[in-house]
Amino acid sequence: MGPGPSDVSPRVLEALSRPTIGHLDPRFVEMMEEVKGMLQYAFQTKNAMTMPVSAPGSAGMESCFANLVEAGDKVIVCQNGVFGGRMKENVIRCGAEAIMVEDEWGTVVDPAKVEEALEANPDASILAFVHAETSTGAQSDAATLCKLAQDHGCLSIVDAVTSLGGTPVKVDEWGADAIYSGTQKCLSCVPGLSPVSFSDRALEVIRNRKSPVQSWFLDLNLVMGYWGSGAQRTYHHTAPVNSLYALHESLRILQEEGLENAWARHEKNHLALKAGLEAMGIGFIVKEGDCLPQLNAVTVPEGVDEAAVRKALLEDFNLEIGAGLGALAGKVWRIGLMGHASNQKNVMLCLSALEAVLGQMKAPITKGVALDAAMAVYA
Ligand SMILES: *Cc1c(COP(=O)(O)O)cnc(C)c1O
Repeated sequence: MGPGPSDVSPRVLEALSRPTIGHLDPRFVEMMEEVKGMLQYAFQTKNAMTMPVSAPGSAGMESCFANLVEAGDKVIVCQNGVFGGRMKENVIRCGAEAIMVEDEWGTVVDPAKVEEALEANPDASILAFVHAETSTGAQSDAATLCKLAQDHGCLSIVDAVTSLGGTPVKVDEWGADAIYSGTQKCLSCVPGLSPVSFSDRALEVIRNRKSPVQSWFLDLNLVMGYWGSGAQRTYHHTAPVNSLYALHESLRILQEEGLENAWARHEKNHLALKAGLEAMGIGFIVKEGDCLPQLNAVTVPEGVDEAAVRKALLEDFNLEIGAGLGALAGKVWRIGLMGHASNQKNVMLCLSALEAVLGQMKAPITKGVALDAAMAVYA
């Protein structure tokens, strides 16, 4: 129950262990087409350019920036946690200028500030933001932000690493232009792949670049020689064959459950965990309504050694929860309820284990009420 990787389903682990076949084998190519189709479903898009980059979420991020940003461009970057800072790094390394729109950690990206920045910088070409900020558990309003980008003639780059599969991600409805995710969060697959999707408008920009994409590996024009439909597939890099079996299986599981049902399950388990923690006296850092169901950042009770609590949970209960990152290090715990791990059993285990460990440390919590409060949500 950390911030990822989440628990991987036995079905996915079984798929991972199937015999490795050639990455140009006709049966494998067939499976690749199915992966693309299921990713379109997960992203809720008809974008033809929807596929997994052969590397973790950070490579999906880099793929969006490296392909869409050129030296001298102006990019508006929203930062309300750790990952917006990485977007800024990407922009700078592309030789472009990052115009920062900053919000307090634990709050969402403020659309009014974004609009101001877009108006003050009519020459900006891209707006980049994190939909689900895993460092704080805040969920920003992607629909509104993508619309603002469009209204100001900008493309949008959206980080959906933690949101995909756990909370609504609607690429076509939002009009998002470039979006990336990861396999090890709410898709409950093994780490190491990054699903991405690009709109036709984004592809147009990539085709008309003044300079070649600096990264050979991530250059979409070349990657599509392998992942593109129709045309004869050519060797670009050796695809991570077994990881793709695993992704295929995890997407089948998502399809069987249904996206809406997966979103509802994440929401329900979050509400139960929240009810239990709050009854115990442990508060959330994100205000009601802005919380991510799959990542719960909560404040460490007064006088408690937060690292000792995590150690006890891990050693005595085989339960992992996450520490705070960056500005929140030492101040919060990040409790994940992602994908396969978002279930009632985990919620109840986490609440009872936390109560036991904190009780033994004489922490200022209310005992004996958390489980009932959580069960009331399930009733
Ligand atoms: C985990 C995460 C990433 C990075 O993904 P990796 O697979 O670790 O490279 C990027 N953005 C967000 C919001 C994340 O939660």
